[in-house]
Amino acid sequence: MTTDLHCDVAVAGGGNAGLCAALTAREAGASVIVFESAPRDFRGGNSRHTRNLRCLGPEYPEEEYFSDLMRVTAGRTDERLARITIQQSQEASGWMRRHGVRFQPSLSGTLHLERTNAFFLGGGKALLNAHYAEAQRRGIRILYDAEVIALDGPGGAVRVRGGEEIRFRAQALVAASGGFEANLEWLKETWGPAAENFLIRGTPYNKGTVLRMLLDAGAEPVGDPTQCHAVAIDGRAPKFDGGIVTRLDCVPLGIVVNREGRRFYDEGEDLWPKRYAIWGRLVAQQPGQIAWSIIDSKARGRFMPSVFPPVQAESVAQLAAKLELPVDAVEETVRAFNRAVVEGRFDPTELDDCRTEGLAPAKSHWAQRIDRPPFFAYPLRPGITFTYLGVRVDERAAVRGMQRIFAAGEIMAGNILGQGYLAGIGMTIGSVFGRIAGKEAARAAGH
Ligand SMILES: Cc1cc2nc3c(=O)[nH]c(=O)nc-3n(C[C@H](O)[C@H](O)[C@H](O)COP(=O)(O)OP(=O)(O)OC[C@H]3O[C@@H](n4cnc5c(N)ncnc54)[C@H](O)[C@@H]3O)c2cc1C
Repeated sequence: MTTDLHCDVAVAGGGNAGLCAALTAREAGASVIVFESAPRDFRGGNSRHTRNLRCLGPEYPEEEYFSDLMRVTAGRTDERLARITIQQSQEASGWMRRHGVRFQPSLSGTLHLERTNAFFLGGGKALLNAHYAEAQRRGIRILYDAEVIALDGPGGAVRVRGGEEIRFRAQALVAASGGFEANLEWLKETWGPAAENFLIRGTPYNKGTVLRMLLDAGAEPVGDPTQCHAVAIDGRAPKFDGGIVTRLDCVPLGIVVNREGRRFYDEGEDLWPKRYAIWGRLVAQQPGQIAWSIIDSKARGRFMPSVFPPVQAESVAQLAAKLELPVDAVEETVRAFNRAVVEGRFDPTELDDCRTEGLAPAKSHWAQRIDRPPFFAYPLRPGITFTYLGVRVDERAAVRGMQRIFAAGEIMAGNILGQGYLAGIGMTIGSVFGRIAGKEAARAAGH
């Protein structure tokens, strides 16, 4: 192994948090190297799948933002760090603008975020391209295909393409390498073999290598190690990197059956934006970790178009046969559901009075008989967005229990987001703490 890389600040991970840290450290005068596991074409981690970040604004004051966060986390947040994130969110988006990132008005079909979230023009991919172009202009060295595999204080070793290992020495390190959502072995520790059937919505490179090394070296953990954010996505999505287009919004408009052809949860419990995040877990608990959303022609055109076409048939029996589900069981489930539907005034924009009676599980809203051909079905599988386990940091982004090691982004998001999710806060945490970590790492390196 050769010892040939030296810098003031090393950054492990080239997503939004890592690049925000790298640029800030460089602006403070530090020499910076970014190690990015992925090859150049796949750089940018999960950040490249994003669309927006949540920030304060004239119409979205701090107290409302904070109470939104308290609601989703049920109080599992470090208030000091949460307040820093919120207070600096507006400045972070301004800083991004000055660094070549462009924003656009919010898109339609985005779960009502126009007041609270700023949307990246061209999405996360364009954001990352802007960050990398800026990094190059400012003389930041980027190593692609370079996975940090060992830590020795703020230095360590990276494995580069071809398997060669290179040692690096740095005055300070910023860990910005995401969670461990792409590490199926690690997910199996909680979920057992079921994890094999999970789809990972983002990058295959977030394996938690750096997180594990920091925890092993004495960093204080934060966030529930057994939890992950999972949504139900199209079961035909690729194993990794399917991104946002694989989301399916048809669940409240029909019924969902498992491999045995049985319903297992109230599809109409609440408005879809409030419920879509529980369906990943629900499907994960079903045999084979798969389910099917079944709708009839009345539901077509009422939800965001799917990326894969639905399976279609002229009768429920034919549909079940095409899906290779037990035909009798599916027919009986649909019959029982149809019998239990109480007529009401159907309104998909509110909690309407179309419900079932005497059915278990009930469908509380938007219950309409599945009786108008053609019939359609979409397979659903759990799509993992991120994991919650991270390292505890202070307000300087310093990793508790470590010297000259800082953390930003998903790897420390559990300090603020102990559970649940608030759309757009992942990128806000990465942007705010990326900049703090970059500044503090440069300072620790004497700048
Ligand atoms: C489909 C999808 C959509 C999302 N949409 C949004 C959204 O619109 N708004 C929002 O706020 N959040 C969204 N999120 C969450 C958001 O992606 C994360 O909160 C955010 O990207 C975290 O940024 P990060 O820089 O910490 O991690 P990442 O962007 O994931 O970057 C981590 C980087 O570290 C690299 N890496 C990992 N291990 C190593 C190692 N050992 N050595 C070197 N490099 C390593 C990876 O290659 C990767 O590039 C979404 C997530 C997904 C999956």
